[in-house]
Amino acid sequence: MHTFVDAGENGMAAVVYLRFEEDGLVECALVGAKTRVTPLRYLSIPRSELQAAVIGTRLANTVTKSFSLRISQRYFWCDSRNVLCWLRSDHRRYSQYVAARVREVLDTTEIDEWHWIQSEWNVADDGTNDEKYPIILPDDHPVTHLVLADFHERYHHRNYATVANEVRRRFCIPRLRRTLRKMRHRCQWCRNCDVSPVPPEMAELPQARLAAFSRPFSHVGVDFFGPIEVIVGRKVEKRWGVLMTCLTIRALHIEVASSLNTSSCIMALNNFIARRGTPVCFYSDRGTNFIGASKELREAVRALDKHQLSKEFTTASTSWRFNPPATPHMGGSWERLVQLVKRNLTEILRSRRPTDEELRSALTLIEGVLNSRPLTEVPVDNESEPALTPNHFLLGSSDGSKPFTLCDDNVQTVRRGWQVSQVMANAFWKRWLRNYLPEITKRSKSKTGIDAPLQGVEVRELPLLLYSLMCSVCRI
Ligand SMILES: [Zn+2]
Repeated sequence: MHTFVDAGENGMAAVVYLRFEEDGLVECALVGAKTRVTPLRYLSIPRSELQAAVIGTRLANTVTKSFSLRISQRYFWCDSRNVLCWLRSDHRRYSQYVAARVREVLDTTEIDEWHWIQSEWNVADDGTNDEKYPIILPDDHPVTHLVLADFHERYHHRNYATVANEVRRRFCIPRLRRTLRKMRHRCQWCRNCDVSPVPPEMAELPQARLAAFSRPFSHVGVDFFGPIEVIVGRKVEKRWGVLMTCLTIRALHIEVASSLNTSSCIMALNNFIARRGTPVCFYSDRGTNFIGASKELREAVRALDKHQLSKEFTTASTSWRFNPPATPHMGGSWERLVQLVKRNLTEILRSRRPTDEELRSALTLIEGVLNSRPLTEVPVDNESEPALTPNHFLLGSSDGSKPFTLCDDNVQTVRRGWQVSQVMANAFWKRWLRNYLPEITKRSKSKTGIDAPLQGVEVRELPLLLYSLMCSVCRI
């Protein structure tokens, strides 16, 4: 049995080999090794070497006891002449530290078993450098958490890649990135900084938006826009646009009113009813939600006698509903159409004042254009049916062009014709259900663009949200 001992600045090591002969063949095998870190308090190299000799002695005894093999001879190899000198001298002459260790070594080994070896041949030398490698730490342990938290704070709760790199230089922690991520989630400071409000879930759509298989303009949103200046003779006068939107198929109808007084509005709505039929319900805004509208329009709508207006149009078959104040989102669907109309009007008039006739013509043109806008996705290939438009429900096709057929007043033909038109209308409604309805009922996407189920803000998140709000206000 050959035991090699050595010590360095960082650690001490002892290794035990067995050399055995069988049928004339010599074999060597490493059977045990032990390393120790050099204590933090100062220890001279000779004393470290002596400590290594003690470790080697203990290891050799353990190996001897645990093997049933008969060991014929033992060799202890040490590259320190100091240690060998101490072992050979009277140990009572030395300090307590040296004396105690020399005694322990000589209690279980013979002095003749100790030999000197050149440093470069001493295989225990490798063991003394073990401690230069990173310290292995388990990923889920309080010490690991403290070490990582220290690095995390040292790098100002940011610079994640740098933190991972620096930790890796000193420590070997399995699943380091995941452990760091978990630690960041636990860090209260990071949670305060990174909190962002979760968009609340969209409310259910109103019944009017989902009223399939009903006549166009059954549920009508009423909105106003303007004023638009027109030239009448040599004078400049103001006109107002009254926009009626079918909330179900999003078709629109525009009337021009010469003022926004109650009788003018009633007249415009009567014109609409005469041409599009009586709606089941009118929906309008009290004027408190007109955020983007001009001051003049806002004042005009506010001055409108809404009571008289709703009385005029509330009958057994028609009702009038006002959106509650401070709910601009309720009229959102038709307010977007107002924007579209205004944009188109600016494009057509090009900042020129039109005459009454020109204005009416322009608005009718816009009505036609917007009623042929696709409600569903425009297909890319030619084979798919074209996108559904409001005009499909109003005119039977997107631009109202239908194949010309000769009319026959035969009762059978009329009945069949009526059935064909019903089938056509139903086909449009089926497409509306299949393609359009899923689009509008789809919940608004979250910030990440994933259709993740959105939650409302939880009470316990409020302090964090307020904190982030405060931070952003302070930055401003
Ligand atoms: Zn942090």
